[in-house]
Amino acid sequence: MTEIANPIKEIPIVNDLKEKREVLWINPDYQKKAQFPLGQADIFDAEARFERFAPYFMTAFPETITNKGILESPLTSINKMKKAITNYDDYDLTGNLYLKEDNQLPISGSIKSRGGIYEVLKIAETIAINSGKLAYLDSYDILYNSEFKELFSHYGISVGSTGNLGLSIGIVAAKLGFKVTVHMSQEAKSWKKQLLREKGVEVIEYSGSFTTAIDAGRQKAALDPKMYFIDDEGSYDLFLGYATAAIRLQKQLKDQKIVINQDHPLFVYLPAGVGGSPSGVTFGLKLLFGSNVHTIFAEPTHIPSVLLGMATGLNEKISVYDLGLDGKTEADGLAVGRPSRIAGKMMKTLLLGISTFNDNRILAYTTQLKDTEGIKVEPSATAGFAALHQSQSYLNQHYPMKNATHIVWATGGMLVPDTEYEEVYQRGKAVIQNGS
Ligand SMILES: *Cc1c(COP(=O)(O)O)cnc(C)c1O
Repeated sequence: MTEIANPIKEIPIVNDLKEKREVLWINPDYQKKAQFPLGQADIFDAEARFERFAPYFMTAFPETITNKGILESPLTSINKMKKAITNYDDYDLTGNLYLKEDNQLPISGSIKSRGGIYEVLKIAETIAINSGKLAYLDSYDILYNSEFKELFSHYGISVGSTGNLGLSIGIVAAKLGFKVTVHMSQEAKSWKKQLLREKGVEVIEYSGSFTTAIDAGRQKAALDPKMYFIDDEGSYDLFLGYATAAIRLQKQLKDQKIVINQDHPLFVYLPAGVGGSPSGVTFGLKLLFGSNVHTIFAEPTHIPSVLLGMATGLNEKISVYDLGLDGKTEADGLAVGRPSRIAGKMMKTLLLGISTFNDNRILAYTTQLKDTEGIKVEPSATAGFAALHQSQSYLNQHYPMKNATHIVWATGGMLVPDTEYEEVYQRGKAVIQNGS
């Protein structure tokens, strides 16, 4: 462990993080003017690419036919859950509460289907176009033909993952015909590794943290010119894939007659691991809704990597292990000690704040969500409910909440095996009964 530099020690919140206290950090640079390396055209480009691939998804993944090959998840009103959690955490929530159910997102049942799959599509499209075998105006279902599988089989795609990114990339890249390697951390759930191996993906396990796995993956890929490395710590393509969620959400809000404007603000609560997925979603939402939308991230008290990076301004140059934290959490999807190289930079003026939570909460929320709404998610996916609870007293003081819309982003869960889920559910039951 490295000695913490003195100027950092003096930032009050760093001590709270060291002591694993639940905190709400409000970003001092929020809504200041800034310039960005990406813009609306980049997000529309990503959306258009997803649309070009829709015929491929309908052919290769028939479960996507019902939504015409577009990978999207429902936005669901959750009034029973609202009652249960405000009672459990003992606070008042003004406004309407919705759940963005990325736990139902096709293919990986997690938010990673947006970013991870998007980057795979971009790689596949680039190779196919350059080969002369594909034109942009073709119906992309031809990519399911053996001619393209043969073409892609000469290339590798690799990624470092806590689990869900590996699943989304692994499933789609293997189906296209790529050789896929997923570098995984110790914390990764064994069922996720097993499922990947069943899909023909090579899984390499590392005894260290996620950071070890991703570093090793990056180094290995650098030696092989035909190996693409999807870099969870710094890829703008991943980021743009996540950002398309905003365009889809705008339409869902309109269809459900949910008004967002100055008097009807939108608050979105997102779990953060490396910070890529919540930052991408935030970036897209800020472009579309400006100062009428506000997002808050949620991280475990044992591994608050994005918060540590942003509060110190050191971003990816500091890890929670530098504070002496153990990085242990039930939220395997958030078990990342060092944030992405782009999340903190992109979020410097766009993110309202970050809250931290004790693991017991997400176990309780996982069980409550099942009991009240019949919705199955993994513990990482409920972290937004912790941020919701932590932030209301601040929001009530600073924003017009009367007509607020709150969206908790449920980030994963569909693929969790029943026996695994049952165990988590029972642990959540115990937490609720013991009143902690
Ligand atoms: C990966 C993941 C997140 C966080 O995404 P990052 O890009 O790592 O910040 C949240 N929830 C689940 C279920 C995940 O798999």
